[in-house]
Amino acid sequence: MLAEPRPIGTLKARCPACGARELEITDYLYDAPLVGLLLLSSGTCSSCGYRYSDVRMAEGGEPERLEVRVERPSDLNILVIKSSTASLELPELGVKITPGPASQGIITTVEGILHRVLEVLDVLCSDPSADMEECRRRRGELEKALQGARPFTLVITDPDGASKVVRDEESKEKLYRALKAVGAATRP
Ligand SMILES: [Zn+2]
Repeated sequence: MLAEPRPIGTLKARCPACGARELEITDYLYDAPLVGLLLLSSGTCSSCGYRYSDVRMAEGGEPERLEVRVERPSDLNILVIKSSTASLELPELGVKITPGPASQGIITTVEGILHRVLEVLDVLCSDPSADMEECRRRRGELEKALQGARPFTLVITDPDGASKVVRDEESKEKLYRALKAVGAATRP
């Protein structure tokens, strides 16, 4: 058992923001209680200040499909570890997010995912040619979902099997503390 995240290596990478080879990334292994062995990465570009963080399950490998049924407000606190290779879908809400080449793994809650989707919707709907009626309808649905008043399903498909859903409260708190300690992806 690794009580704390243990650094396993550091490398210098090209910064996706400014292009300088000044992004120093440190990898950590952390055996999170009741979650499993996680690979955490974090770093900052010394040239432009860009911050990088990534998280994925260290073991796995088999393609997987995780499904979370959200039926009550407390379900919005369920924690999701979504690796950089995973797609995310909310079928009843008409949302599908596929990973791009610059995707990073994140740890967030179901609520955090809904907030991100709302942000994307707002950007799409700020286009003058957007269907305002449809925008209002979708925003209404997402807001109901955020209040726990609209049951829905969250589906994560990960070809690398590097994602995870965490429901246990104590595991969640320990995980957040560990992530904070290494400056990795934290609560949205
Ligand atoms: Zn940079």
